[in-house]
Amino acid sequence: MARLVQKYGGTSVGSLERMRAVAERALRAQREGHEVIVVVSAMSGETNRLLALARQATPTPSERELDVLAATGEQVSAALVAMLIQELGGDAESLLGHQLAIHTDAAFTKARIRSIDSGRLEGGLRAGKITVVAGFQGVDDAGNITTLGRGGSDTTAVALAAATGADVCEIYTDVTGVFTTDPNVCASARKIERISYEEMLELASLGAKVLQIRSVELAMKYAVPVHVRSSFSEEEGTMVVSEEGLEAVVVSGVAYDKAEAKVQLIEVPDRPGLVAEIFGRLAARNVSVDMIIQSSSRDGHTATDVTFTIPKNDLTGSRPLIEAWAREQGVRSVEYDEDIAKVSIVGLGMRCHAGVAAKMFGILASEGINIQAISTSEIKVSCIIAAKYTELAVRALHDGFGLHLPPEPAAPPKASA
Ligand code: ASP
Ligand code: MG
Repeated sequence: MARLVQKYGGTSVGSLERMRAVAERALRAQREGHEVIVVVSAMSGETNRLLALARQATPTPSERELDVLAATGEQVSAALVAMLIQELGGDAESLLGHQLAIHTDAAFTKARIRSIDSGRLEGGLRAGKITVVAGFQGVDDAGNITTLGRGGSDTTAVALAAATGADVCEIYTDVTGVFTTDPNVCASARKIERISYEEMLELASLGAKVLQIRSVELAMKYAVPVHVRSSFSEEEGTMVVSEEGLEAVVVSGVAYDKAEAKVQLIEVPDRPGLVAEIFGRLAARNVSVDMIIQSSSRDGHTATDVTFTIPKNDLTGSRPLIEAWAREQGVRSVEYDEDIAKVSIVGLGMRCHAGVAAKMFGILASEGINIQAISTSEIKVSCIIAAKYTELAVRALHDGFGLHLPPEPAAPPKASA
């Protein structure tokens, strides 16, 4: 017997028919002898519809009311799935974030979970009940409804798995797992059988959309095994687990992201504090800066160039601030480029293999793709390129690093002496 948290995303509860399939799957697991907790998202498109309604009501909706509104999407799914389980002869009860309760801080629209009262869930499990939890929502100390940020039902599910000591957190979606790259871009993309939390975290941060970033952080922190799989098939998906026992492949995935814009500050006076000032002002507006490059300052030179990337969404809001700073400091000019993309390779094996970045640059060069900026971490290399080459770059990197080939079979265990 295992204890399972099963989380169903928007397409998996996109219609009553899909919800019936969810109810059947949850009941089947229970009848196989497992303890089952279900977490649901809003029906697909529902959260967007609600947020659009709010923006029609007022261009500046209060964040508290946005959360009251957005949380209704998950309430609908939870009630319907619970009814369908009952209809199929099972015992089920829906619970909202504040009923459980999932305690969060008061940061509306992006709250963080502080603690979970698992008593009611445990009671349900003992009674053979399937509790259907509305994902994405919680309650702050003052009793206000909060939400956990877009895609937050993943985080609800992993947090419940951690709080109840579940054996696995199953994330049901409309794809069969985590792929070596986006199958819509690269026909030779393959499903990854097992991937480490670290790699998954990088891939999620670099644009792979299967899991909310925070849910991966939480899974890593509490060592919750996560199984990403499809609710439309019986196929095994991808296990996200700790790196022990994993074959460290050099590159396990290629990601891309077109959501950033490039800002170039040309001839910034070379004095201490200038760069601190501009990035401080951006941070004060909650604009997260990703890549930063400063040309090296040399003796006899009085200015350097600084290039950085920020989310495209933040560009319009940031321009007046950047330009005001540039005028104050005597920066020669500021240039913007929205037609860029970030392509990245991720893999644990990079830690102990030299030459991975060089190989990446060589592959891009052989396709005639110019690199505009580079950043690296222990397990990833990212390059900014012109957006129009994204697909070409992804395909060339994917096959260039051999990701189209099935992984090498693990070496046979050595006979012990
Ligand atoms: N319904 C919320 C969203 O669309 C949360 C989720 O689905 O995970 O972002
Ligand atoms: Mg999701």
